[in-house]
Amino acid sequence: MSIREIIRVPNPFLKIVAKPVSIINDSILGLLDDMLETMYNANGIGLAATQISEDKRLIVMDCGKVDFNEDDMTEEEYNDKIKDIEPQPIKMINPQIIHSSLNLTEREEGCLSIPGYNAQVKRPDTITVNYIDENKNEIALEAGGLLATCIQHEVDHLNGVLFIDHISRLKREIILRKAIKEFTTD
Ligand code: ZN
Repeated sequence: MSIREIIRVPNPFLKIVAKPVSIINDSILGLLDDMLETMYNANGIGLAATQISEDKRLIVMDCGKVDFNEDDMTEEEYNDKIKDIEPQPIKMINPQIIHSSLNLTEREEGCLSIPGYNAQVKRPDTITVNYIDENKNEIALEAGGLLATCIQHEVDHLNGVLFIDHISRLKREIILRKAIKEFTTD
């Protein structure tokens, strides 16, 4: 396993529509492991292959450690709680969202390709996603809450879409201008 470089805006590779994976072999499984390691190393909860410059429809996630309300806890309680939560990695090959609820929910999102910049994004609050897992099983998963947001955010990446594409043009331009200035001067 190895930690890969996560590309940031304005890298044009973030805009590509990634290609479906046709054969699940050791190199794909190794890539999924690299993606998870890279994501954990960056303290992220999701990562798409395009973010490490791989033109493949692969995403990884682990929403286990954050799907509770940390605002109600002291830092000590929070640290106590997250230490007991086992990693819950999810690997998806060729994920396809086949159903989205009409109900929308708003949640704060961030992105490892725009680190340090967050915004409130409205998305369907439950979805059904079809994908192939690392054991080549075809899975249909109905997801809600943070996981639903996370899946939609990562599948967007495979279509060249970023979370800032869902907010107002004005807010998007402010974030992009600041982020690009920051990322291209260091
Ligand atoms: Zn992202």
